[in-house]
Amino acid sequence: MSETIFDKIIRKEIPADIVYEDDLALAFKDINPQAPVHILVIPKKPIPQLSEANDDDQALLGHLLLTVKKVATEAGLSNGYRVVINSGSDGGQTVYHLHLHILGDRQMNWPPG
Ligand code: 5GP
Repeated sequence: MSETIFDKIIRKEIPADIVYEDDLALAFKDINPQAPVHILVIPKKPIPQLSEANDDDQALLGHLLLTVKKVATEAGLSNGYRVVINSGSDGGQTVYHLHLHILGDRQMNWPPG
C-alpha cells in the first residue's frame, strides 16, 4: 500500500491546521478550501478509499461520522453542512487515503459537479 501526503500529516512530518485528533481520527483544514469552512476528517488507519473498507472497519466508519458531527459543531456550522466522500477516479478522488470532506458556511447546491 503506497503512502500518501495524509500519512505524513498524521505523523506530523508536514504541517497541517489540525482542528481535532483522537486515537482513531484526525481532522484538519483543507489546503484548497471549496467553502468558507472546509475540513477533512480521516482515519489514522490507511484505508485507501471507501470501496476498500471492510466489515472490520464498521466501528471506525461510525466513529468518523460522529467525528464529523463533533468537528462541524465545533466549527459553528449550526445552519447545516455537507459531508462528501469521493471514492475512486469517477468519484473525483485525488488522495488515496479515505477522507470525509466537511463543507460549510455557505449555501450548497445540488446536484454537485
Ligand atoms: P479528494 O479529491 O481526494 O476527495 O480530496 C483531497 C483533498 O485533499 C483536496 O480537497 C485537497 O485540497 C486536499 N489536500 C491535498 N493535499 C493536501 C495537503 O497537503 N494538506 C491539506 N491540508 N489538504 C490537502
